[in-house]
Amino acid sequence: MGVCKEQPGVRVALTGNESIARGALEAGVAYAASYPGSPTAEVLGTLAKVAGEFNLYVEWSVNEKVAMEGAAAASFTGLRSLVVMKADGLNVALDFASALALSGTRGGMVIVVGDDPSSHSSVREEDSRNLCKALHLPIWEPSSVQEAKDMTRAAFDLSEQLKLPVVVRCVTRVCHASGDVELGELTRPERRPVFGRDDRVITFSIQLHAQLEQKLSRAAAEASDSFFNGYSGPANARRLVIASGPSAMYALEALDMLGLAGGVGVLKLGTTWPLPETLLLNYLKNASEVVFAEEVEPFVEDNVMALAAGHWNELGSIKFYGKRSGHVAGPAGAGIGELDPDVLAGSLAKIFDVPWAGQTMLTSREAEELLGEKMPGRELALCAGCPHRASFWAIRTALELDGREGVVLGDIGCYTLGIVRTGYYLLQTMHCMGAGVGIAGGLGKLNRFGFNKPVITVVGDSTFYHAAVPALINARYNRANFMCVVLDNETTAMTGHQPHPGRQTTATGGPADTVYMEEIIRGLNIPYAISDPYDVDATINAVCDMLQLSGPRVLILRRTCALAAVKGKEKNRVYVDWDKCIGDDCGCGRFCSKVFACPANIWDAEHGKARIDEAVCNGCGVCATLCPQQAIVVERTVE
Ligand code: SF4
Ligand code: SF4
Repeated sequence: MGVCKEQPGVRVALTGNESIARGALEAGVAYAASYPGSPTAEVLGTLAKVAGEFNLYVEWSVNEKVAMEGAAAASFTGLRSLVVMKADGLNVALDFASALALSGTRGGMVIVVGDDPSSHSSVREEDSRNLCKALHLPIWEPSSVQEAKDMTRAAFDLSEQLKLPVVVRCVTRVCHASGDVELGELTRPERRPVFGRDDRVITFSIQLHAQLEQKLSRAAAEASDSFFNGYSGPANARRLVIASGPSAMYALEALDMLGLAGGVGVLKLGTTWPLPETLLLNYLKNASEVVFAEEVEPFVEDNVMALAAGHWNELGSIKFYGKRSGHVAGPAGAGIGELDPDVLAGSLAKIFDVPWAGQTMLTSREAEELLGEKMPGRELALCAGCPHRASFWAIRTALELDGREGVVLGDIGCYTLGIVRTGYYLLQTMHCMGAGVGIAGGLGKLNRFGFNKPVITVVGDSTFYHAAVPALINARYNRANFMCVVLDNETTAMTGHQPHPGRQTTATGGPADTVYMEEIIRGLNIPYAISDPYDVDATINAVCDMLQLSGPRVLILRRTCALAAVKGKEKNRVYVDWDKCIGDDCGCGRFCSKVFACPANIWDAEHGKARIDEAVCNGCGVCATLCPQQAIVVERTVE
């Protein structure tokens, strides 16, 4: 495994996430914790694989706040610790993070935050830098896979020097990229946690705020000499691009594409907060035109313009171009979505008034058009055999049978696809993890105003532990009237099947003290039932029965994630009996492929019959129970 290689100086191929893990190992990390979230989920997964070899403590925590608290505890004892989360997770951890900035840390503590410009695997493209700035934490941004390692390693040193956590903010294009990484030396420091009776780590003093500001001033002074900031281009450049993260690479490429490489300077900032002020002023004093390249929001742009405003009498007049001015903008607009060399070339060509023939890369729409019919169309949908599809079908059918117009709420997970056509447009709200349960609690208290609709919220099993339990406690305490359906696929499916407190193993594969959700629900004195969503009729009945109850109640729909269930196992064979299939005359027309919408239910246009794509089908047999003609046959090879 590349991350474990001992030879410093050797180059190995690593992903950005592996590179971060390697950087932590080189820094001698002792404690690592995370809640899984894209784009950074593989950092902890990588460390979990080598935990034994490096004598690390590695855990998947119940949520990001708890992960950060545990990592802080290790730091308080002098150990080096790492906590990893996606941008949304930082929101969860924010309360503790703001206190931690004040109390400070002891052993080096690094917070890796994964931002997802263009929302490839997130519900929003949050730019965590503004939050980190508000927390008064230093922010470093790797522009490459190599820097992901080097920055993570060096961030531990800065944290220890400042006695403050340091944020490594990494975007999807770096986390998920693969690159050639030159390894540094692995360290295996002696671990001796110390927390004596006289040690105090507290936040209760205005002096701590003053100390925090002093720490940031020291970080700013260090930043101007940081190895992670760099300049390339002519001396005393009049035209300057200030870039951070992978946008620094895009800027170099874009200038090359425009034939401007020799005439425009690129100042790459790796330490984006606090700003390397001395370094910046040194380049700004010669510049007359400055362009900002960064993702997503104008963070560097705003802060550099504020710096320049404070030094206007030394700097004179500078024209600034970026997201604020609307000059640096992708197809979705300024400050929205990812940049790339084409987007930047287009923006720079307009700013510097040079000809630009147009983009070199195909947009996804153009790629789709080019591929035309060579690629089968694929609608956004849950996986073939996903138990959530069957659960959604059962909820939808039960509400139809009930006859009242129900409200169905949701949140973040694979089951978020309940908002699209293939999820029957079932879900009506989607905000953050566990939010559906809290919102259901609110709607469930509106009866006094005449709101008498049945309220159902769905929540995943990992999310149940992460964020739903306090909302259920609140619902019990305040007697809110709703049904919570736990879509229990026995894993954290969306991010790669990480375990959670309901599972039997820990992050490193060791035995866990499982926390059964039934025990929590029983402890709350909330009535509950369990059903298998693959048994669609029984599940419809269970939902109907629960709809008749009042107060908070829970229905657990339990069936292993379709992808996890078939790993290494033989599948049932499922096929359509064409003598029975009525195709276009079925239901709303081809019921199985059009309405039920499992991606393995496909349409054979030539023969006018339904077919099963055996390569995709996982053999769950749910479509067979729903076909009105009993035309779908399941040959059971497994029970
Ligand atoms: S059996 Fe039917 S519902 Fe299940 S995966 Fe195969 S095609 Fe989809
Ligand atoms: S639901 Fe049954 S009858 Fe209808 S198209 Fe599919 S296989 Fe044919």
